[in-house]
Order: sequence, then structure tokens, then C-alpha cells
Amino acid sequence: MLRAGVDLGGTKIQTVIVDEQFLVIGSDHRPTPLTGGPKDVAAAVVSSIYAAIRDAGKERADVTMIGVGAPGQIDTELGTVTSSGTFADWTGPFPLAPLLAHDLDRQVTLGNDVHVAIQAEARVGAGRSFPSFLGVYVGTGVGGAVVLGGELWTGRGAAGEIGHVVVERNGRECTCGRFGCLEAYAGRAAMEAAARRWIAEGRVTSLFDMMEAMGQRTLTSGVWSAALQAHDPMAIELIEDAVDALGVAVASAINLLDVDGVVIGGGLGVRLGDGMVDRIREHAGAHLLRANDAPEFRVATLGELGGAIGAAMLPEPSDSRN
Ligand SMILES: [Zn+2]
Repeated sequence: MLRAGVDLGGTKIQTVIVDEQFLVIGSDHRPTPLTGGPKDVAAAVVSSIYAAIRDAGKERADVTMIGVGAPGQIDTELGTVTSSGTFADWTGPFPLAPLLAHDLDRQVTLGNDVHVAIQAEARVGAGRSFPSFLGVYVGTGVGGAVVLGGELWTGRGAAGEIGHVVVERNGRECTCGRFGCLEAYAGRAAMEAAARRWIAEGRVTSLFDMMEAMGQRTLTSGVWSAALQAHDPMAIELIEDAVDALGVAVASAINLLDVDGVVIGGGLGVRLGDGMVDRIREHAGAHLLRANDAPEFRVATLGELGGAIGAAMLPEPSDSRN
């Protein structure tokens, strides 16, 4: 009874094969196709699952349950993803789960990418000892989730969107079209856009030279990490803006919810790790009502595989068909 879990991201598809204890026994990752729209993305997901099964040394028939975590709006009943903001040529709801189920000859369960990653941290990761915690995922955008009493708080379906908590009234424009959201300061896409604006204004940085030298198409977490190590002033300033904004938003959420812990994950969060988490904690401290009794801050322990492991947890055993 093996499971496959897929973390479908804007830049990367990460797949794992897990056993019944959710231990990873095989994996695959590949870039998300930038052209061809959702059909090409779906085909890449199928290829990645088969590659992960080969990596585990197993047969396709051994994998009975498949889950996919995807960004954007997920309709779990219809198995559709509406994710025009993250993927190229993806407009309106796309029936990702039925298409994958057809190609893989298995039922496929969809979930929100950040929600599944947080649930994995809650069950087998950094959140395991916290009755309640706030998960903040710093990647291309900034996602979040709230676990209260061991359960994910979904609200009316859209809870946990800390990326769109306002940290500056009338501030930078966000991907959502509003102004001053956390994501406009701390999302990788927004930070890259800010870097390009600053260059157009005549400022200098080695960020994009490093990006090319590293063979990347965008300012990945690895590029940011390298630029910080090289003491690039623009990279330092943008990351400082990001951790400041994260501190404001996280402190506000703690003042509201008084959770036991904060788990910081996502590509950038995991890459910059304890150093970034310490800086967020410092910035948050300035805004906490009970600064001398702050909740514990931790890096997501499942790292870059958390989303895929959480996706593998999505299907209930009764969902398996075949
Ligand atoms: Zn926003």
C-alpha cells in the first residue's frame, strides 16, 4: 500500500513515494513546464510519478493512492484547479484530478499546496508537539495555514492566507491586485520584481548575474542564498524588507490567535532556514503583546519534501480504486 504525493509548484514539481508510515522511499523533481498550459503540466506530473516509482525500485501497481497539492483555488469535489496566477497559459478551472486519474488509472485526490504541507508538519514534522500553530510558507508567494487544537482551520475554505494580511496601508502592489499585502514584500516573485524596478532606477546588484551563472530562469531560493553570502547590498535590503514584513504579519496573527508555535517553511524559508527564522522572530518581537512569552518559532522539518509528503497523506484508504 504505497502512496504517491506530488507538490505541484510554479517552478518545480516535487514527487515522493511514501510507505505506510509516510517515510519517503523514492522521489523525483523536475521543472514545471512554462509553456503548453495545464495539459503539459499534467503530463509532467504523470512522468514525475513514474520516475519516483522507478527511484523507489517499485512497480506502478504497488502505488494505490495518489495525492496532489496545488496552488490556487481547489475544488476537491470536481478535482479542478484554478491557478492562473502561478502557471503559464492556465485560465479558469482545469479538471486536473480527472485527467491525472485517467492517465494513471488511479483515483487522484487534490488539496491546497500549503494546507497539505502544514498538515504533514502537524502529523510528522515541526508542528507535531504544538496543539496549535501558525504555518507560514515563503516561496514564490507567501502561503499560510492555521492549525487549532490539532485541526487545520479552513474557515469557509480560504483561511490562513497570511500572504494577504496587510503590513503597509497603501503599500506595494500585490499579485492579488490589492496593496500592501505581506506577499508584496516577502514573496520571491514580488522580491524579484522589486529588484528589477530598482535596477531600472539605476541601482546595481549581482543578483541577476548570479542567476545566470547558476543556470536559473528566475531568482530562486538558491540565488538569494548565494547573493546573501556574497553580501550583495540589494539582496540584503530586500530580504531585510521581507523578514520585517513577515515579523509584522506573524506578530499580528499571534496577537490574534495566541498559538503555541510558528512553523516557517516554503522554498525560501527552508533554504534560509534558522537564520531567517531568527530574524523573523526578532522582528515579530517588536509587535508582540506578550513579547517575553513568545511562541516557539521553528523551520519546517520536512523541508522541501513537506508539500509532497502532505499530498501523499490526502487520500483516505477508502478512496483507493482499482
Ligand atoms: Zn495580496
